[in-house]
Amino acid sequence: MKIYCLLGDERVFKSLSPLMHNTVMKEVGWDGLYVPFAVAPSRVDDALKGIRALGIQGANVTIPLKELVVPCLDEISEVASSLGAVNTLVRRGEILRGENTDVGGFVEAVERTGVSLDGGSVLVVGAGGAARAVILGVRMLGASRVVVANRTPARGTEVANRLQADSVPLDRLPQEAFSAQVLINATAVSRPEEGAELASMVERLRMPHCRLVFDLNYGRRENIWGRLAEKEGVPFVDGLPMLAYQAARSFRLWTGMDVDGDRFLAILRSKA
Ligand code: NAP
Repeated sequence: MKIYCLLGDERVFKSLSPLMHNTVMKEVGWDGLYVPFAVAPSRVDDALKGIRALGIQGANVTIPLKELVVPCLDEISEVASSLGAVNTLVRRGEILRGENTDVGGFVEAVERTGVSLDGGSVLVVGAGGAARAVILGVRMLGASRVVVANRTPARGTEVANRLQADSVPLDRLPQEAFSAQVLINATAVSRPEEGAELASMVERLRMPHCRLVFDLNYGRRENIWGRLAEKEGVPFVDGLPMLAYQAARSFRLWTGMDVDGDRFLAILRSKA
């Protein structure tokens, strides 16, 4: 049997990734098991030594370890290297390689909406690890202008400089939203209880040129970004498709098997 795991903080025990991967492994007859482990940031190096020693075949890495694993790896893909963040570990013999499937998962989730970003102006709210994957993804999709709006302006500027985007403080959100064609929420806030100030700002946004609103979060019944999309009469996508499509990519890297991301999505939808 081959063992795979998820490394992150205590939230890994609530993650739907074990369910997705274990279900698909069973369905396709892959003799594997996927288990979650909470790892203290100070012990990342020990955890990766453990992966090597125990013969674990692959892993996903989530908040807050995506950047911290980078120096502990033998190899890193070009995409993961340009982001400085890894979400998938692949073992090849004694070599442990870092990949980033968040970018591809995000790109596929946007592509499947049928909305083109080519030549468009995209507003990304948030500047954490997920925002970096999104900025790279929208660039791959041909966006001509990418603006990052973040609560902590220094973090926004740092991310924007690294990935050739523009950055503005969060209080510029109304002006930037007015001219944007696509808005992507990459903050942790999707309900008023999660960030009252941002929620009240979003409630007052006007987006006359908008074609798509995309929220990286999922499972929120009262979603401020969903309400914005409804008000503007444009499609709304939550974070489930991105999660499913990144999982399908990690699965392919580990097993060589091509399982449609929509199978992962159906498993998520049955539980989320
Ligand atoms: P992160 O590195 O912790 O970044 C969090 C971001 O949210 C920062 O930009 C932060 O701004 C902002 N933020 C937090 N609370 C806020 C508030 N009250 N008002 C305004 N801004 C606030 O997290 P991450 O890894 O980038 O993830 C961001 C979200 O995306 C998470 O909720 C995560 O679950 C989700 N996600 C989804 C997927 C998927 O596959 N669907 C993949 C990755 C992440 P500051 O810089 O000012 O703190």
